[in-house]
Amino acid sequence: MNRHGRSRTTAYATGAVVLLAAATGCAGGGDSGAASAALVAPSSATAPAGAASPQGAASAPPSAPPAPAAGDAAAWAKWHLTPLPPAPPAPADKPVKLQRTGPVPVFSEVRTTDKVVFLTIDDGAEKDPAFVEMLTDLKVPVSMFLTRDIVKDDYGYFKRLQALGNHVHNHTVDHAQLSRVAPEKQKSEVCDAQAALTQQYGTPPLLFRPPYGDGANTPALNSAVQQCGPKAIVLWRESMQIHDMQYQAADKKLRPGDIVLAHFRGPKDLKGETMTQMFGELLARIQEQGFAVARLEDYIAAPPA
Ligand SMILES: [Zn+2]
Repeated sequence: MNRHGRSRTTAYATGAVVLLAAATGCAGGGDSGAASAALVAPSSATAPAGAASPQGAASAPPSAPPAPAAGDAAAWAKWHLTPLPPAPPAPADKPVKLQRTGPVPVFSEVRTTDKVVFLTIDDGAEKDPAFVEMLTDLKVPVSMFLTRDIVKDDYGYFKRLQALGNHVHNHTVDHAQLSRVAPEKQKSEVCDAQAALTQQYGTPPLLFRPPYGDGANTPALNSAVQQCGPKAIVLWRESMQIHDMQYQAADKKLRPGDIVLAHFRGPKDLKGETMTQMFGELLARIQEQGFAVARLEDYIAAPPA
């Protein structure tokens, strides 16, 4: 069972977010089987996702063909995917403007009319080299919310994703359910992760996400985040399971500016599916609805120095 799977009974501060509780479990509904697996399996030139490599845990990049150019249909075809529309240029006037001090905002979508969504990937348990290859090929931006004790055995894996332009954010020390612990512990969960991630990734995480979204709207957590450095608390509108997303919107449709939650998960948590298969399914669901994927940080203005 994965960490988020235990969260289904979590109480949330707002009614709208209650729906999230059921949306973060590990057991994705829907079909499984060979057809959907084949949809996103890399083609024959590529090692199967998750296959053991002779290099073992070495951090050298996987031996893969050179990545095709951005937007290259061949890159998408390699992963048996239809290309997404290109994202529009980053807005000059950022819809989210963060402040240096004071209470941090809590948001689960970005106000924009661009037909884009933002992908966030949490925790860090699965460290599949094939996923680095996939993002290298497809150049789809993601934002990573990392939990220190889940990534500390291989910080380097996420540096490879960071090197592609993806940002690292704070998702606590050990994935505590924050509303159930004392304010001092909430603070150490945020601050100690902030210190470790800053040291490892060279820049202080700008954003924070509480595990399960729990406590996001409480003064205690807001105060902890303010003291530790992140400038916003980021939730989500959709949660990727194995083959499909769970939506908060009743019509089960993406909307411009939605933030989508996914996880670094592998076959143990995905009923045998790999990280790249899950992510391919996520991209297919987005493509079907005609959305592009934009970089969340391109829509956020960091506080003035
Ligand atoms: Zn998490």
